[in-house]
Amino acid sequence: MAQQLIPADDFLKLTLNNPLGLAPFGFTLANGIEVKVWDSGVISFEPAGETTEDVVLSCGVHGNETAPIEICAAIVQDILTGRLAVNVRLLVLFGNPPAINAGTREITENLNRLFSGHHSKGAGLINPERQRAKALEQYVTQFYQGLPVTNNVMRNRSLYDLHTAIRGSRFEKFAVYPYLHGKPWRQAEFTFLAACDVYTVLLMQTPASTFSYYASNEHGANSFTIELGKVKPFGQNDMARFAKADSSLRALICNKPVKSGAFDHSQFNMYQVYRSIIKQTEDFKLHFADDIENFTSYPLGSLLATDGNIEYRVEQEGEALIFPNANVAIGQRAMLMVVPSSVIDNLQ
Ligand SMILES: [Zn+2]
Repeated sequence: MAQQLIPADDFLKLTLNNPLGLAPFGFTLANGIEVKVWDSGVISFEPAGETTEDVVLSCGVHGNETAPIEICAAIVQDILTGRLAVNVRLLVLFGNPPAINAGTREITENLNRLFSGHHSKGAGLINPERQRAKALEQYVTQFYQGLPVTNNVMRNRSLYDLHTAIRGSRFEKFAVYPYLHGKPWRQAEFTFLAACDVYTVLLMQTPASTFSYYASNEHGANSFTIELGKVKPFGQNDMARFAKADSSLRALICNKPVKSGAFDHSQFNMYQVYRSIIKQTEDFKLHFADDIENFTSYPLGSLLATDGNIEYRVEQEGEALIFPNANVAIGQRAMLMVVPSSVIDNLQ
């Protein structure tokens, strides 16, 4: 079975040649790492020695976000060819293979709005993205539950869902830290983000239908959506811009300390959501340039958007906008407004 991979050692190619599914198979590498292909875009690595970390890396949840796909594909390839040691249990996921093939964000529905059971709400599992969201949840569950938590070995679960944004950003890289339901934000995670060159963090205050919230809420994983820069076609990414994220993820996989100093709150731009602006009519209109950067802010009172008779103006000092998109369906989020925040009062 290993022959399917060994000639090219190219799991991404195997995935994209079989976007709708792959029969599971497995093999053991010369260094003792047990490799299992679970499905198209789903591959796990289990080292022979004892581990304490269960790490999930995901990319391609949005099919046209190529840089993270290239980073993860290279990591998988380096593991398969014995160039990268694995000292954690590792699951690597290429989220939406048909959309990667199509070079589009999605085929019919935004995969990153379908987790925590949202795939089965309303009309149910009516399209491949809904079916994939459900399958990815099952794979993550199976992976985290693959080794039971015992009294003497504390296992640490993490999930890093890697993305690139559609538009430029005032802060090129940023992470979304899912709502923790009052549990403390984790200092060690901020130092890991800093090692990845991510110093802007959006601290969520409500549940979400994202993959990262799912892993955090359902599995207690240290989990993040990480936006690594702007979307570019395959082969056109300046990989030097992602070098720190790449080397930190590789250090994590080897279970080596990442290169980062002590946590320093002043290095970070922390934000929290102030309001979510929902498109209510077909007349919804954004009142700024189409290529506006994420985290842009305007003076108090500035007109941001209109929706029929409704006007949205800047209400808070430092209020900044992210993910503006007037083309969403009615009832969907057209823009998120965020304000400066802090983790000092609830940090572990
Ligand atoms: Zn994305």
